[in-house]
Amino acid sequence: MRYISTRGKAPVLSFEEAMLTGLARDGGLYVPERIPTMSFSDMADLAGLPYEDVAFRVMRPFVGDSFTDKEFRKIIKKAYKKFDHAARAPLVQLGPNHFLLELFHGPTLAFKDFAMQLIGQLFEAALTKRGEKVTIVGATSGDTGSAAIEAFRGLDAVDVFILFPHGRVSDVQRRQMTTPGEANVHALAMDGDFDDCQARLKDMFNDFDFRDGVKLAGVNSINWARVLAQVVYYFTSAVALGAPHRKVSFTVPTGNFGDIFAGFIAKQMGLPIDRLVIATNQNDILHRTMETGAYTKGDVAPSISPSMDIQVSSNFERALFYAYGQDGAAVAGQMEDLAQGGFTISQGAIDWLREQFDSGRASEEETMASIKATFLRTGEVLCPHSAVGVKVAEEHLDESPMITLATAHPAKFPNAVKRASGQDAPLPPHMADLFERDERVTRVANDLTALEALIRERTGQ
Ligand SMILES: *Cc1c(COP(=O)(O)O)cnc(C)c1O
Repeated sequence: MRYISTRGKAPVLSFEEAMLTGLARDGGLYVPERIPTMSFSDMADLAGLPYEDVAFRVMRPFVGDSFTDKEFRKIIKKAYKKFDHAARAPLVQLGPNHFLLELFHGPTLAFKDFAMQLIGQLFEAALTKRGEKVTIVGATSGDTGSAAIEAFRGLDAVDVFILFPHGRVSDVQRRQMTTPGEANVHALAMDGDFDDCQARLKDMFNDFDFRDGVKLAGVNSINWARVLAQVVYYFTSAVALGAPHRKVSFTVPTGNFGDIFAGFIAKQMGLPIDRLVIATNQNDILHRTMETGAYTKGDVAPSISPSMDIQVSSNFERALFYAYGQDGAAVAGQMEDLAQGGFTISQGAIDWLREQFDSGRASEEETMASIKATFLRTGEVLCPHSAVGVKVAEEHLDESPMITLATAHPAKFPNAVKRASGQDAPLPPHMADLFERDERVTRVANDLTALEALIRERTGQ
C-alpha cells in the first residue's frame, strides 16, 4: 500500500514512512493511493469480535508490508490494554434510535487515545527496527497533547514536545500534560490560540533544515496513522447495531475534521453509512463551508468545548482532495488562497461534499441545554463536545440508527458540566490524585526561531 500527498508533489511513501513523516514535504497530507474495500461477508464476520480483532481486520490492508501480521497484532494488543472498558468503545442508548459511542475509556479520557496509543506502539516498533530516534512535536487544543504525552512518555526512541495555547486549555487537560515526570516529555505553554500553535508547528515542518536536523515527526491529527486508527470504531459500532445488514448514521463533533474523515474512509471501504453529520460549536467554519461553499477564516471564539475551537480545519484538505477527484494541483491552489484568508469551493466539489456530509452547529447555550436535557432524560452526563454532537444529531434523526460520538469524559470539563446539569463529574480512580501532582511546563512566545532553538537545545541537535 502506497501513500500520496493531497497536493500531488511529495514523494510517494509506504505506510511506515507516511506515519513517521506526518506532513508531506509539499505541505499536503498523505492519503492511500487507493482505499481498500471490505466485502459484505467480511463485514458480517466482524459481529461479536473483540475490538482488537476488528482493528486488525480493518487496518491490515492499509499497513502493507511495513509490519508482519504477527507484529501488527502485538502492536494493537499493547495499544488498547490501558483502556478501562472491555469493549474499548461501548455503545449506550440515548433514545429509541439514538446511541452514544463512548470513546473516552482510554488513559487520558478522550477519543484521541484510540489513535495515539496505537501510534505510540507503531513508532516504537518502527524506530526500534531502524535503530533511530525522532523528535515529536505536536500542537494541541488540549486533548491531543495529553494523549500524545501519555502514549510516548518514557520511550527511548522519542522526545515529545507539545505546544498548547497558554490559558486556553482546561485544568485537567493542562495537568495531564504537565505532570508526567519523564525526561523525554516537554510541555510548552505558548502565547496565542490553537491556530497559532498549529501554524508554528507547520512552520517547523516547512523548515527542512530544522526538520531534518532534529528528525521531526508529527502525530497531529493530520498523521494518516491516526485517521486509520479512528476508522475502526465506526466498524465496531455499526456492526453492533446491525451493519452490514442495515445502514447506520453517525454524528461527529469535530473541528479539525479528523474523526469524521475516518468515518468517510469507513464508508469508502464499504461500511453502509447513511448520513455522516458534521457537528461544530460556535467556531463553525465547517458548517458555514457546507452551507455556503466558501471556506473563510474568522477569529476563534473560545468556547466550553475548547477541543473544537479552531478556524483552520487541517484534515478538511483530505476531503477536498476527494471532492476534486484526487487532483493535487486543484487542492494546492485552494490552499494558496487560504493563506490569503479563504477560498470558494467549485460547484462540482461542493455538490459532492454535500452528498457525503450533513452538518449542524451548536451555540454555547444550546450546548449547555443539551448537557442538561440529556442528563434529565437519560442520566448520561455528557462532556460539552459530546453535547454539541447530541444536539446536532437530534436534528438529523431518521430511520437509520444514529450513533453520536462521545469524544471526551465529562470529568475533563467539570465546570461546564456542573453549570449545565448541576452534576459533579469526578475523575476515575486512576487519576484521582491529578491535582496533587507537581507540574512542569515551559512558557514560550509565539516565535518560530525561539521555539526551534529550544527544541534543538533540549534534544542536543
Ligand atoms: C480533538 C477533539 C475533538 C475534535 O476532533 P477532530 O479531530 O477535530 O475531529 C472533539 N472532541 C474532543 C473531546 C477532542 O479532544
